[in-house]
Amino acid sequence: MGAAPILIVGAGIAGYTLARALRRRDATIPIGLLAAHDGDVYPKSALPYAMGANRRPVELVQATARMMQDRLGITIHQHSPAHSIDIGASEVVLKTSRLPFGQLALALGAELPKPRLAGDAASRVLTVNRLSDYAYLHHQLQGVRSLVLIGASVPACEFANDLVSSGYTVTMVDPAPYPLADRIPTLAGQRLMARLAHAGVRMLMDDRVVQIDSRGDSGFVIRTAGGSELDADMVFAAPIPRARTELAAAAGIKVGKDGIRVSDRLLTSTSGIYALGACAALPGPIHAASVDAQAEALAATLLGTPTRPDPRPIPLRLNTPACAMVLMAPPHVPGEWHENANKRGVTALFHDMRGQLRGFVLEGGAVDSRDRWLAKLTIA
Ligand SMILES: Cc1cc2nc3c(=O)[nH]c(=O)nc-3n(C[C@H](O)[C@H](O)[C@H](O)COP(=O)(O)OP(=O)(O)OC[C@H]3O[C@@H](n4cnc5c(N)ncnc54)[C@H](O)[C@@H]3O)c2cc1C
Repeated sequence: MGAAPILIVGAGIAGYTLARALRRRDATIPIGLLAAHDGDVYPKSALPYAMGANRRPVELVQATARMMQDRLGITIHQHSPAHSIDIGASEVVLKTSRLPFGQLALALGAELPKPRLAGDAASRVLTVNRLSDYAYLHHQLQGVRSLVLIGASVPACEFANDLVSSGYTVTMVDPAPYPLADRIPTLAGQRLMARLAHAGVRMLMDDRVVQIDSRGDSGFVIRTAGGSELDADMVFAAPIPRARTELAAAAGIKVGKDGIRVSDRLLTSTSGIYALGACAALPGPIHAASVDAQAEALAATLLGTPTRPDPRPIPLRLNTPACAMVLMAPPHVPGEWHENANKRGVTALFHDMRGQLRGFVLEGGAVDSRDRWLAKLTIA
């Protein structure tokens, strides 16, 4: 029997990026990849645009799991969600079988918590976190004219912008005073809100949906805490994602509220088990390392050369045609935002207590200075 493989749990962006990085470095080492569903590759970040543009789900598949298996020379276990990890036996437990591993990489991603609401139609609120959700939503969208969008996250803004551009009536409802309020300061947030409103999105901020009931003709009546009553053909939620930690926690691996705890080499609290991507809580020095950088470093580590991910961040560019915005979220350190707004755009800079630049948000024409601020950023 050959050596136990490196097993990757999760066939999303992080899982496949790690598989590619491993294969580039070692042509023969056995690699297994567990896919909870079909394991097909698609661009998750393109889903909001695809929905607005009415793209069919099948058009979004870039490669099937079978193609990836052949290309990379790995074993992909489709429709095989991991149920638990038997650390003593070094095995991942599936529904009816077990898979041994030499080393394990958790790439479980994040889930979208469904909002807790009253009303007879509360359970019919849709979310999109994978291609099959998109397929369902795409199907349901036929005949729909009006939507209520719960949440003001990055995907929520992108969905709202693309849907109004395609002629839908969209109302966005969120308790925060402006979109992305957990990540960006006031002036930048207000500018984003104003631009989305100008594009046609009705912004119902400082309010929250509390109840959803069926309307006679198959639509919905949505009630908010602030006393508004909205009519819509569809209710769709794009909440802030929550790292998937249950599998790790149940195995006794340490987790926190931001994800599975890892070292700056992506090692969890259990030897031989690593985590990367949206399920991992990256420590301060590498808090903004990209998924690509995490996968490159972890591939080297798994193959015997412990390596820290390149900590250099890649700023997030919002796919909101109504509002050009680049976002470099600061780490969780004490500090202050300073904002400068003019007709051209908003520049918001986050400095820590020592006066070092740790994050920024650029809006409108100010996005042109992205590289200048990136060069001034203190990372560790
Ligand atoms: C609509 C939308 C738009 C987005 N737009 C952007 C954007 O523009 N820019 C950006 O940077 N980010 C964007 N994101 C976030 C980005 O998609 C995530 O950061 C990225 O997908 C994280 O990659 P991941 O591999 O960690 O997680 P995922 O890509 O979510 O992959 C996790 C995989 O693990 C699988 N899995 C979970 N549990 C198990 C289990 N027990 N067993 C086996 N498999 C399991 C899941 O099925 C999934 O396939 C967006 C997200 C959404 C939902």
